[in-house]
Amino acid sequence: MSEDQQVIVVGAGPTGLLCALGLAQQGISVTVIEKQPGLQDSPRAIVYHWATLDGLARLDVLDDATSVGFLKQDYAYRVRRTGEVIGYGLQALEGKVERPYNLHLGQGALAQVVLTRLLTYANVRVLWSTEVNAVAQHEAGVEVRVRTADEEAVLRAEWLVGADGARSRVRTELGLAFEGMTWPERFVATNVRFPDEREGWAQSTFYVDDTYGAIIAKIDDSGDHGLWRYTYMEDSALPAETAAERYPHFLRAVFGEDVAERTELVALSPYSMHQRSATAYRAGRVLLAGDAAHATNPTGGLGLTMGLFDAYLLNESLGLVLRGRADDAILDVYADARRQAFVEKASPRAAANKQLLFHSSDQELLDQQLEPFRRMSHDPEFAAERLYFTKTLETPSLLAAG
Ligand SMILES: Cc1cc2nc3c(=O)[nH]c(=O)nc-3n(C[C@H](O)[C@H](O)[C@H](O)COP(=O)(O)OP(=O)(O)OC[C@H]3O[C@@H](n4cnc5c(N)ncnc54)[C@H](O)[C@@H]3O)c2cc1C
Repeated sequence: MSEDQQVIVVGAGPTGLLCALGLAQQGISVTVIEKQPGLQDSPRAIVYHWATLDGLARLDVLDDATSVGFLKQDYAYRVRRTGEVIGYGLQALEGKVERPYNLHLGQGALAQVVLTRLLTYANVRVLWSTEVNAVAQHEAGVEVRVRTADEEAVLRAEWLVGADGARSRVRTELGLAFEGMTWPERFVATNVRFPDEREGWAQSTFYVDDTYGAIIAKIDDSGDHGLWRYTYMEDSALPAETAAERYPHFLRAVFGEDVAERTELVALSPYSMHQRSATAYRAGRVLLAGDAAHATNPTGGLGLTMGLFDAYLLNESLGLVLRGRADDAILDVYADARRQAFVEKASPRAAANKQLLFHSSDQELLDQQLEPFRRMSHDPEFAAERLYFTKTLETPSLLAAG
């Protein structure tokens, strides 16, 4: 293994690949190290909020991602107990932002689009089936010890990006705690094909109920009926291995016997859920990004959203340092700003989203929580203001600030 890269990125998830792409586009030599033999395609992120799309466009992958996925605007809350349906849409942002729509596409498909583009750069290499198992650093650089099926080796670079997911080895090697909590419930994410378009259902529905609460969103438009994500919650004391046996019960309760009977289950994955953040996103020459830095329950789709915003700022700040245009103190700005955005904004919002969808038995509280969405359905100015929240999770360009 050669050792001539300026940056090593650990993890070929979407965050790591986008970090690598942004750096490669600035002429920086990058090696991505991934322990799996290829990209992962388990049911995880599918929604990329409107505010993240400008960054994908700057990296020149938005058109390709859109051609694989699709753009959409509609949302609905459905309250099981009362039958209330509240619809609203991103149309409220039209004329106010450049891209007033969300992108829907499986996380694996997004990663594939980014990887395809990344591999067109001569200054990039991706090492598959290669696991990082130790990290060391000194004044001038970092060293990572890696293991493949045949060998152990040490790779050196000037900087290291840990984008190796919620169980990050890089974070552990740095001795950084992952502060926060793990929820007592488990999420079960399924990919399904419904027998029809289910008249009246939005392409993203938040189904509000204590027992059968769910997030139901369309993943792709292709084929007769397309692929949908149906994610519900169960007690994590139940065995994860038998989640598939309990899934039909949930489906029947939400959609009725007839639809459930004719719905095809394509994939099912149980997940633990956390609200956690690393105590710091920088330690010397190592930066954390994406789930390696922070983990959230996925209600509202803020997990990878934060990873994308991390990648955009990391590309800018580390790029400036490597091209000799900024002092490395700018990396502290990256680390502090991204941590603050997660701890103060994304994590509390995701916890509130989960509470509303899955713990709604207090009718008075539920009414209070639904009131803004009722107003959004008929007051476009108010809706635009609320929908702007995702943009506030992005750290503005440091160049613009300085
Ligand atoms: C059910 C569900 C639905 C979700 N929906 C959404 C959504 O709609 N929108 C949204 O924004 N987010 C969503 N999320 C969150 C999103 O999936 C994560 O935030 C996202 O996967 C983070 O990407 P990442 O690249 O940071 O980490 P990961 O995707 O976890 O990638 C980390 C990579 O690092 C590799 N790796 C790990 N350790 C090592 C090692 N030691 N050496 C080498 N490689 C290593 C792993 O194999 C992996 O490929 C959802 C999550 C779940 C569970």
